[in-house]
Amino acid sequence: MKILVYIQQDEGKINSVSLEALKGAQDIAAQTNGTVSALSFNADVCSQLAGYDVAEVLVVEDDNLNTFNPLFYLKALEDIAKAESPDIIVFGHTYEARDWAPRLSARLDIPFISDCIGFKNEDELTFIRSIYQGKFNSDSVVNNGAFIVSFQSGAFRVDGLQSGSADIRQVTVDLSGAGDSIAPEEKFQEAEQAIDLNQADVIVSVGRGIGKEENIELARELSKTLGGEIASSRPVVDAGWLESSRQVGSSGQTVSPKLYLALGISGAIQHIVGMKGSKNIVVINKDKNAPLFEIADYGVVGDIFEIVPKLTEKLQNA
Ligand SMILES: Cc1cc2nc3c(=O)[nH]c(=O)nc-3n(C[C@H](O)[C@H](O)[C@H](O)COP(=O)(O)OP(=O)(O)OC[C@H]3O[C@@H](n4cnc5c(N)ncnc54)[C@H](O)[C@@H]3O)c2cc1C
Repeated sequence: MKILVYIQQDEGKINSVSLEALKGAQDIAAQTNGTVSALSFNADVCSQLAGYDVAEVLVVEDDNLNTFNPLFYLKALEDIAKAESPDIIVFGHTYEARDWAPRLSARLDIPFISDCIGFKNEDELTFIRSIYQGKFNSDSVVNNGAFIVSFQSGAFRVDGLQSGSADIRQVTVDLSGAGDSIAPEEKFQEAEQAIDLNQADVIVSVGRGIGKEENIELARELSKTLGGEIASSRPVVDAGWLESSRQVGSSGQTVSPKLYLALGISGAIQHIVGMKGSKNIVVINKDKNAPLFEIADYGVVGDIFEIVPKLTEKLQNA
């Protein structure tokens, strides 16, 4: 089983969802006696990738690939897939991947199993997708031939990546026929305070239990003390108390920090799908039957307005 993992980067910084996907590929290879190759369009990134346990790192250097352009990226990976014949092409399920992985699937005429949360290798290699707002999981199997798979943020943990020492191989592609119907303009900056919560190790997340906008300061103070980011459930964003980029859940971001501290969040399935991959989940809620306690590593039944200021103070004095 030959597995090729595309590693997304931005100005030499590896996208963490791609690294998680690399861990997924390592796990698949371990269970199928396969090999993993990592591919990037950036030489610095390839040097970093060479430190992981992969058979080899493929680098394509072409000025047309310096910034994201789905037509050039598509043509590059089409050429590489045809030359290298991987059995599986793996992506992290990022916004970029959503743009060009389906195009690649069409171009190569191979299936694409998107947004997977894991895999199992019992009788056959099976990919698991979460459907109907996380209420059910579906199993997908490709019976014949190569295919593409993308893994959701949080599906695998980067800290489990096996390290190693791999060779870097330069590969060439012919982008001349890629087409020029898409011309990137200046890089899009989201709203001024837009935040990629995927980069945060600690997230302090507030729900409707926070009561009113002014009270968010309590959580902000705790988050600052822990060196984390503030996030929320949807009602807090709907009320306009935090910007939408801080919403966690099915219509917000999917996060997998080392610590997710949930303050006054009940645990609706639409919220849980966005944070259940967190390594440690701490829930503070005054309702002992709040569903979020079911997936908590540590749960405190109590009032956030009593607990949070004391917790912040203790941490500041520690
Ligand atoms: C299509 C669709 C998409 C959605 N997408 C998302 C999404 O991306 N993200 C998301 O979060 N939701 C989403 N939702 C909404 C979701 O269904 C829930 O309504 C929402 O998650 C509930 O948010 P909450 O837990 O903050 O509020 P509530 O369910 O109202 O819970 C508030 C909690 O705070 C507790 N509480 C109150 N006061 C205190 C206190 N003083 N101390 C301690 N605890 C207290 C209460 O006991 C309660 O458990 C979506 C819904 C739909 C239909």
